[in-house]
Amino acid sequence: MGKDIKGTCHLCGSYGKLSFEHIPPKKAFNNCRIEHYNYFMGIAQGNYDNQISQRGLGGYTLCESCNSKTGSWYGGAFVEWACQSMNILKYTSNRPSLYYRFRIFPMRVIKQIACMMFSVNISEFRCYHQDLVRFVLNKEERHLDPNIKFFAFFNAEGFRMSGGVVKVKTNNFNMDSLENLEESIDKMRTKVKTHQVLSELSFPPLGYVLTFDSEPPDPRLIDISYFAKYQYKDKCPIELHLPVLPVDSPYPTDYRSRQEIGH
Ligand SMILES: [Zn+2]
Repeated sequence: MGKDIKGTCHLCGSYGKLSFEHIPPKKAFNNCRIEHYNYFMGIAQGNYDNQISQRGLGGYTLCESCNSKTGSWYGGAFVEWACQSMNILKYTSNRPSLYYRFRIFPMRVIKQIACMMFSVNISEFRCYHQDLVRFVLNKEERHLDPNIKFFAFFNAEGFRMSGGVVKVKTNNFNMDSLENLEESIDKMRTKVKTHQVLSELSFPPLGYVLTFDSEPPDPRLIDISYFAKYQYKDKCPIELHLPVLPVDSPYPTDYRSRQEIGH
């Protein structure tokens, strides 16, 4: 590369030379030239350039120490999980419909996912989520705030990334269509405004969503937060029935198919 890229590490917060991190890890099918940047929302702070597309998706978001620590602790386990998922997609022609048994290190997998979420977000993300920083930078740490949820799904094709997205949902209704005052008041009460703070990372064969204090952004997503309850050394069978969701829309957590978007 020749040039040093400096910045603030998204995990430990130290300022200095950043190293290139494949997101997801290179061996998890991220070793090819990336041709399509259409739906890539951008690794934060511009610490990426076109050259990255030559060697897979990633960015300069972590210092060398954080990159090598997390890579050695969680990288291999994450690759195993990705390979098993890819095999399921292959054997079912992208139509898995059953529960499948994975044999994985659940704790290492969820920590790698958490680590990638720091890379997808801006570096200040760590200031608001110090407990999540500890979760990633201490391989034995098992505490995960119950308001923090990780979700997974099969992603047969396409990629999409976005950090720190706030989605506001309003249940609109039309006053004119209401028949009486009681009904109006009732409807008023249900006019709740909710918002979701989330990050998403989708890269075949899987996709992940991280939420804070909010409902699942899509009922089909499978909550895998319980992976954090295992110990670092635990390798065990995990049965999962993950849905295949398309990521054709440019909007995070919008899983409409190409046909649905076209209408
Ligand atoms: Zn660091």
